[in-house]
Amino acid sequence: MARFKEIEALYIHIPFCNRICTYCDFYKMLAKYDAKAKYIDYLIKELDLRKPYLSSIKTIYIGGGTPTSLDNDLLERLLEAIEKRVDLSKVIEYSIEANPLDLNLIKCNLLKKYHINRVSVGVQSFNKERLKFLGRIHTKTDAYDAVKNLKKSGIKNINIDLIYALPNDKFSIFKKDLVEAAKLGVNHISCYALILEEHTILYKYYKEGKYSELDEDIQAKIYYKTNKYLAKYGYNHYEISNYARDGYESIHNLTYWNNEYYMAIGASSSYYFDNVRYTNIHNLKKYYEGIDNLKLEYFEESKLSNLDQMKEEIILGLRKVKGVDIIRFSHKFGMTIYDAFGDIINDLINKKLLVIVNNSYLKIPENKLFISNSIMSKFI
Ligand code: SF4
Repeated sequence: MARFKEIEALYIHIPFCNRICTYCDFYKMLAKYDAKAKYIDYLIKELDLRKPYLSSIKTIYIGGGTPTSLDNDLLERLLEAIEKRVDLSKVIEYSIEANPLDLNLIKCNLLKKYHINRVSVGVQSFNKERLKFLGRIHTKTDAYDAVKNLKKSGIKNINIDLIYALPNDKFSIFKKDLVEAAKLGVNHISCYALILEEHTILYKYYKEGKYSELDEDIQAKIYYKTNKYLAKYGYNHYEISNYARDGYESIHNLTYWNNEYYMAIGASSSYYFDNVRYTNIHNLKKYYEGIDNLKLEYFEESKLSNLDQMKEEIILGLRKVKGVDIIRFSHKFGMTIYDAFGDIINDLINKKLLVIVNNSYLKIPENKLFISNSIMSKFI
C-alpha cells in the first residue's frame, strides 16, 4: 500500500482565551502572563522534539483557544521559534486564528512580519444580541476594524467564522451576517450551526430550561439557503461548513479532509502519521512532565488497521462537496472503493444519499449535505 506524501501540515495549539464563550467545548482556559510564557517555552521544546517531522511542512495553522490573545512578546517568541525550525520558504499557507478585539494594527503587522499569510477571524456574528448570547465581547465595529487592519498590514487572505441556529433563528436573520461578511470582501467564510455540548455555559442554560436547540428542519433551511446565497456572491461551497472564493480554499484543512498525515504540537492537539492517530494529554502539568521526560503522554493513541484507514478516507472525504476521489482511493489502498464498501455504497446510491460523478468522485448530493453525519455513519 502506497502512502502519497510526507507530513506537510503542522498544527500548533494555544489553549488561552480572554473570555470563555457560552458554547465552547474546546480545550482552553483563562491564564496569567507567566502561565502563558511557560506554555510557549514548552511548545518550543515540543517543536524541537518534532524536528525530524518538520522538513516538508507546507502549511502551518496556529489555532486554539485564541492564539492572538497572547501578549505580543510571547507571540513573537513563538513565531520566531517557528521561523528558526521550519523552512518558511516552502510554506504556502500560514494561518492563525484571531479574535477581532486583538487585531490592532501592531498585532497585524507582527503577524505579517513573521510571514503569516492567512487569518481566520472569530467574528461569529455582527449583531449585538447574537454576540451577547454567544458570550462574545466584540462589536460589529471591532470586526470591521480587524479586517481593515489586516488588509492594511498586507494580509489579504482572511476567513470569517459565523454561527447560525441560535434560538428563534431563521435565514432572514442570519442573512444579515452573511451580507456583512460578503461586504467586507473576505476570501473565505465558515458557517457553523450552534451545537449544544456538555460542560459549556450553554449546557447549563439548557439544564435550567433557559435554552433549547433550534428545530432541525429550520436549521436545514438556513443551511441550504446559506449555500445558495454565498454561491451568488462568488463563494464556492467546498466543504460542509466552508465557502471560498476561487483559489482560497484552506490548504491546511484540506489535509485533514484528504486524510493525509499531519503533525501537531501543544496540549490536547491531535496528529496523524504512520497510520496512528495521537492526541496529546489535556492537562498542562502532565504535558510539561511528558516533554521534560522526553516521553509525551497521550490522551489517545490509536493504530488504524487498513480497514480503519479506508473508512476514514471515505468519512473525511465525504465532508468535501466534491467528494471522495475514487481513483486516488484505489492507488492508496490497492483495491477499489467498491471492493471495500460496495454494498454500503450501492444501498446509499439507491436511497439517493450518495452519487458518483464522472466515475471519479463519490459524493453526498448537495441537497443531502445537512444530514451528512448520518450518511457517513453508515461507513463506521
Ligand atoms: S470559542 Fe474560541 S474564543 Fe470562545 S472560548 Fe472557545 S476557543 Fe475561546
